[in-house]
Amino acid sequence: MTLRPAAPNNGVVFRREDMSRAPDIPARHDFIVDTRLGTTLGIGEARVATVEHLLSAFAGMGVDNAWVELDGPEVPALDGSASAFVLLVEEAGVEEQETPRSHVRVLEEVRVEQGRHWAALSPGEGFTLSYRGDFAHPAFARGGQAHEFEFSTGAYVEQISRARTFGFLHEVATMRRHGLALGGGLHNAVVFDDYRVVNEGGLRYANEPIRHKLLDAVGDLYLLGRPLIGRYRCFGSGHTLNARLVRELMKRASAWEEVTEVAARTGALRQPGLAGHLESITELT
Ligand SMILES: [Zn+2]
Repeated sequence: MTLRPAAPNNGVVFRREDMSRAPDIPARHDFIVDTRLGTTLGIGEARVATVEHLLSAFAGMGVDNAWVELDGPEVPALDGSASAFVLLVEEAGVEEQETPRSHVRVLEEVRVEQGRHWAALSPGEGFTLSYRGDFAHPAFARGGQAHEFEFSTGAYVEQISRARTFGFLHEVATMRRHGLALGGGLHNAVVFDDYRVVNEGGLRYANEPIRHKLLDAVGDLYLLGRPLIGRYRCFGSGHTLNARLVRELMKRASAWEEVTEVAARTGALRQPGLAGHLESITELT
């Protein structure tokens, strides 16, 4: 993967370098084609899977415009969090562009449900996110099942970006039997057995999985194509509910408006964040 600077109004766009005449895939909700194990975007035959952690880092770092070149169908998992992407963006630098930054401001509450789980967007100052989970696992009793944070680059980098994706040993076995998560392991995920964390180093935060769910939500909500002004709340949400929430908001014209802040400018990478640096960055995290 190589990240490259892009012009104002380009947005974040994925490019499959390995496919001949493959169309570019914009990081927008209308291109979501699968949300089962992560968020996958696609046009025609072209697919890009697991876009959420990279988009989360772009949202966190204020990158509105970028090209993401890939030589395969998936964004690299790295350590399972967004921290390597954050370091890559920091290394490249973010340049303020001449274009005013537009936002999606929520005007009415929008809510989607799936069984007991739900996710909602409601009006609010700034952008706040809160997650409540219901994981029936002893390791979650200690760290708690909830986390709330007010979005800013500082809060994102400090509280959210380092939280890794997670899984349970019994699920990993089932997934492998079905040919999934073949590259998954202790180097890019927190793994729980029936009682505790299997990873030698333990957790990065007591409620790391809950924070990772917020990392995912930040990435999924960035598929609005612009930063959000409002309040995100949920109970046990994931990629599928987040995608439905974004679509529901866009569908209801009275529930949102586009606002352009004269003082805020769009951001783009100053120079390419080179793929060759990723390996050493992963070792740092
Ligand atoms: Zn994730």
